[in-house]
Amino acid sequence: MNRTCDVVIVGAGAAGLTAGIVLARAQSEVVVLDEGRPRNASAAHMHGFVSRDGVSPSEFLMIGRSELSHYGATLIETRVVAAERTDDHFVIHTGDGQEISSRAVLVASGLTDQVPHTPGVHELWGTAVHHCPHCHGWEVRGRELAVLGGGVPHMTVHQAALLRRYTDRVTLCPGEMELSSGDRSRLTAFGVRIIDGAIERLVTDDGRLTGVALADGSAVACEAVFIAPAPRANDDVLHALGCRFDPRTGWVHTEPGGATSVPGVWAAGNVSNPRAQVITAAGEASAAGIAISAWLLERDLAAAQAVASAEDGR
Ligand SMILES: Cc1cc2nc3c(=O)[nH]c(=O)nc-3n(C[C@H](O)[C@H](O)[C@H](O)COP(=O)(O)OP(=O)(O)OC[C@H]3O[C@@H](n4cnc5c(N)ncnc54)[C@H](O)[C@@H]3O)c2cc1C
Repeated sequence: MNRTCDVVIVGAGAAGLTAGIVLARAQSEVVVLDEGRPRNASAAHMHGFVSRDGVSPSEFLMIGRSELSHYGATLIETRVVAAERTDDHFVIHTGDGQEISSRAVLVASGLTDQVPHTPGVHELWGTAVHHCPHCHGWEVRGRELAVLGGGVPHMTVHQAALLRRYTDRVTLCPGEMELSSGDRSRLTAFGVRIIDGAIERLVTDDGRLTGVALADGSAVACEAVFIAPAPRANDDVLHALGCRFDPRTGWVHTEPGGATSVPGVWAAGNVSNPRAQVITAAGEASAAGIAISAWLLERDLAAAQAVASAEDGR
């Protein structure tokens, strides 16, 4: 099935849905393509979004989808597998054989957390294994917490220190992660217990997390675990469209407002900003939506003027 529209949005998380609503309300024809794997899907509740505190991520997205459709945008559940640009438009290909042409593209495809393979971590990801004290620290305040080393070391150290604000029972298990003597003494002085040794697995009792088992046979008791997994952007579409990437960070280069180096292509949310929370992703995407609307308008004005000039010249 082939179709054309003003803007294709890749991804219907907080970012894609917000931009879709902004653009549809601005009278643009919008098609949103989403394969249905939002980053926080495994969490039971979401925090830090004013007026939506504690809502489940799936309910949040369901409300967003219904608002999107209310304003006439089209949402198609499919995966984008390829994208190309011609002189004046873009062609987006989906895994189920659809081809959609558009004047502009917003990539809002999020990121993938590279969760460590330690047995138990994947199974409890989003329920008893968390990555962000700001999102889920309050719910486990006062409890026995463990922080596992790996992923992004400086974030692991930051997490261990930050969690001391929530409880006086924080244990850092660096595992294979190198911990400098400076960080070791700072954390110890701040009241973080550090237990060295290879991490073997998480221990559960009837599905409930009870501790971290170390290879020497000992165990660290805890009710929740925090980790700092390395983020990997879901940025295939941005690569396919020829966008410039920052050689230092490896993330796509964007201007304020989300414009990439390719005219007509924008990026917003976790695909371009790994630190974005739900509210930040939505905010960035709102700004991108307004910028795209202005860009389309400028092109329409230029086209109208070209027609008028041609008519005058006849
Ligand atoms: C366990 C967990 C809990 C969290 N809790 C909170 C919290 O309480 N509060 C908070 O503010 N933040 C929280 N976050 C962070 C939050 O998930 C992100 O800030 C948010 O999801 C970013 O929104 P986004 O729209 O950029 O990306 P996503 O929400 O990840 O949406 C991207 C969408 O794009 C789709 N997609 C990707 N590639 C393609 C493709 N090729 N074709 C089609 N579709 C594609 C994906 O399937 C997905 O649906 C949490 C994260 C995790 C991992």
